Formats: sequence, C-alpha cells, structure tokens
Amino acid sequence: MTDCIFCNIVAGQIPSSKVYEDDEVVAFHDIHPFARVHFLIIPKRHVATLADCTTEHEALLGRMLLLAPRLAKEQGLDAGFKTLINTGRGGGQEVFHIHIHVFGGGEPANRS
Ligand code: AMP
Ligand code: ZN
Repeated sequence: MTDCIFCNIVAGQIPSSKVYEDDEVVAFHDIHPFARVHFLIIPKRHVATLADCTTEHEALLGRMLLLAPRLAKEQGLDAGFKTLINTGRGGGQEVFHIHIHVFGGGEPANRS
C-alpha cells in the first residue's frame, strides 16, 4: 500500500463505488457527498495537484474534463452540474492526488 488514498483506490486496496474506469482514469462516488450526486474523476497515475501538471499532462487533463459531462449525464444530472478542483492547502485540497469533483442535483438525501 502507498500512503495515497486515491492510489489505493486505483489499486483496489481501498473499496470505492466506481462509476467509470478506463486505462488512465477512474471515477467514483465521493464518500462524503455534498450534493445528491457527487463523484470524483482521478487519473490512475499519481499526480498530487493541478499545480504539478505540465504540458505532459495536457491530454490526461483533457480526458478527465471531457468525462465530466458524459458521466454527469449518466448519473442523472441532465439539467447541469458543477465542477471543482481544489488545489493545494490554500485551495482546500485534502487528498493530494488530483481529482475533479463533479456534483449537482440538490442537497444529498442523508443531510438534515
Ligand atoms: P479535496 O478537499 O478536494 O481534496 O477533496 C477530497 C474528497 O475526497 C472529499 O470530498 C472526500 O470526501 C473524498 N474522499 C476521501 N476519501 C475518500 C474515499 N475513500 N472514497 C471516496 N471519496 C473520498
Ligand atoms: Zn495517489
């Protein structure tokens, strides 16, 4: 096991509720959703933050971003959705393996 939660999810060492997987990218439901639908799109290869990306990551970032509308639609967000990439401590990032939050559909059902 590495000490990166998301690398462990990619490796299948930590369970996740996957909504998508290909050779480079995985998407899974956020464990603490802040909307009725809330999932994360991550690269399989570890990259800590958006600020660590270079031109080498252009195609990967494009692939991740283009998956957002497709997966959002599959998850029932026909009317639209929000995306968020927290970057660095000052940007509120808690898991240092780059991820795109995709969420929408109103308040989560379990929030009082
Ligand atoms: P961020 O603040 O952008 O780094 O967000 C990290 C997100 O990862 C938070 O919304 C967490 O709820 C989510 N998260 C942390 N651990 C897991 C996990 N094991 N499975 C799914 N989502 C997770
Ligand atoms: Zn990682």
